[in-house]
Amino acid sequence: MNTAFFPERVRVSTGSAIVIGLMKGRIDAKPTTVYLLMCRNKKCSANCSFCPQAKESRGRGDMLSRVTWPPFPTKQVVDSLESATKSGLMKRVCIQSLNYPEAFDDVLLLVREIRSKVSVPISVSCKPFDRQKMRMWTDAGVNRISVALDAATEQIFDRVKGRNVGGPYLWHRQRKALKEAVEVFGEGSVSTHLIVGLGETEKEICETIQWCVDSGVYPGLFAFTPIPGTRLEKSSPPSLSSYRRVQLAHYFLTHKENRFENMAFDSGGCIIGFGASKERLLEAIGSGEPFLTSGCPGCNRPYYNERPGRPLYNYPRQLLPEEIEEAKRVLGF
Ligand code: SF4
Repeated sequence: MNTAFFPERVRVSTGSAIVIGLMKGRIDAKPTTVYLLMCRNKKCSANCSFCPQAKESRGRGDMLSRVTWPPFPTKQVVDSLESATKSGLMKRVCIQSLNYPEAFDDVLLLVREIRSKVSVPISVSCKPFDRQKMRMWTDAGVNRISVALDAATEQIFDRVKGRNVGGPYLWHRQRKALKEAVEVFGEGSVSTHLIVGLGETEKEICETIQWCVDSGVYPGLFAFTPIPGTRLEKSSPPSLSSYRRVQLAHYFLTHKENRFENMAFDSGGCIIGFGASKERLLEAIGSGEPFLTSGCPGCNRPYYNERPGRPLYNYPRQLLPEEIEEAKRVLGF
């Protein structure tokens, strides 16, 4: 019987900690979601090849992607949340749950504590749980759940986070859990994470985006980011042009303005047709919207996949006119 105790400490992404007043610092793109990470002395039980929290990773224990997450007393965090959400600064709380035996109960206790103080929407990113457990979370106040696929194909999934790396995850179980989550949370209240740049083709990731849309799951796009100490520390991030094409396809597919079947790809699996007119493409590009961070509403994940001063894969704020011109140029318009 799990004897979970109220988690005394929780990790907070540096940007979130600065915005809600837990620490001082200068940031040029403010998160609009408070990102929390369950705090443990040990690493995660899973072994995802891109993650510094993976059980065999030599990466830093206070990192997730390229972001640092200092720990704070949970009570202090929840109190800071209260003032930050009242001021409208923060639109959501996102709890990243590592994979460990007490994870479910720890998150439940944390959610109850947060819900006792604030009414802001709460997302939980976690491993697959059964319906009964997911319902306990919704009853406690969780609005959205994210079960990460991360990989676009079963083969890549097994290679980076499944059986080939001694990970606990199975492709079919992950997809089944997403469908069950839609039954519990409702269509439009379930997300997943898809990482561009793990060796998939643009065609393969567009096909998986379409599967998500047809399953009532919203796919958030991430650019693969090599992190020191992880299995993939020597791999390269995706090219900006490829990432922009996938973002544009993601925009049309998730807005149900087009379907994968109507898109065109070259022999290498690169997108050569979006199934939209040139006018419509230029209009969408001109809005900048396709290149914004995609995920739960209010999730903007500043500098999650890139360093400040470098080209942004996901824009955490509206694009500037010159950034839209740059996107047009990169896309060949
Ligand atoms: S999409 Fe964003 S808010 Fe939603 S679970 Fe993922 S990181 Fe959290």
